[in-house]
Amino acid sequence: MPLLDVRNLKLYYGTTKGVLKALDGVSFELEEGETLAVVGETGSGKSTLAKAITRVWERNVVLVDGEIYLEGEEVLHMPEERFRKEIRWRKIGMVPQASMNALNPVITIGEQMIEPFVLQGVPKSEALRLAQDALESVGLPRDTIHRYPHQLSGGMKQRVVIAMAIMARPKLLILDEPTSALDVMTQANIMNLLKGLKARLKLSYILITHDLALASELADSIAVMYAGKLVEIGSADDVYTAPAHPYTQGLMSSMPTLRTDKQLSYIPGEVPSLIEPPRGCRFHPRCPYYSSDKSLKGLCDDKEPPAFEIKPWSGRRHLAACWLYQFKLGTS
Ligand code: SF4
Repeated sequence: MPLLDVRNLKLYYGTTKGVLKALDGVSFELEEGETLAVVGETGSGKSTLAKAITRVWERNVVLVDGEIYLEGEEVLHMPEERFRKEIRWRKIGMVPQASMNALNPVITIGEQMIEPFVLQGVPKSEALRLAQDALESVGLPRDTIHRYPHQLSGGMKQRVVIAMAIMARPKLLILDEPTSALDVMTQANIMNLLKGLKARLKLSYILITHDLALASELADSIAVMYAGKLVEIGSADDVYTAPAHPYTQGLMSSMPTLRTDKQLSYIPGEVPSLIEPPRGCRFHPRCPYYSSDKSLKGLCDDKEPPAFEIKPWSGRRHLAACWLYQFKLGTS
């Protein structure tokens, strides 16, 4: 049984211009102890996926659909009270995007760390001990509880928000762009910290990032999102070295590398509106295969591609939602 099993997950928002389909039928599994990196451009739905799994969506949500099983138990439609007490923070920890900048400047680190626990009835002395243990786990001194955010560097603040997320010893940690606001040396330190924590605490990670190098460094598997859809998923090696979906291929070729002097390319156009997304494959207005191959007209722009298996099952599945693979390999 996988640790996390996400099935046909949908999250729609109501806006003045219409219904925005931020997540539109996303499915994947995560095994215990594994790291899944979710990559894609801004607006692809990566952060919405994190919000949907932790159920911290905005108020204008108009549809939440699908199923999420955590250790076999459905948690997407569980009563909110129970989810708050038993799942959020206790089984699923979260480091939201830019969360180190959201630390309250006039409250000590310790008070901020213990607040959710004290609200749930944990004695203050016990909560403070948990906070100190968590700070120690991320390489900070136990007396950091007495300090204020302005007394800490960016790297230390990021360690504090990671400590907050692991305080209750969750099984799954969702990290949304955990290194994006940090300098290169601090990024490397945080990456090493995350690797160490994963091994020591037997954590599973969902790593939301636009940084493909970070994804390939930390992840066992990579999921690629485009316009609210998951378009490719497979082992980090397969997706990184042999990307199958034309969108993933475009992302890879736009990534600079130190090892070769290859010409960088870019994906023309922009991520489409999620209020009126393109019919059929949402990538077709930007896809080089669609624009050059007449046989794809009337197919890519009309029918949504299912996930096709790219290579025969051998350990981790490699799937891509692209019509190019319909005759080559058979459906999943
Ligand atoms: Fe391109 Fe068609 Fe594949 Fe979409 S389904 S990525 S338009 S070839």
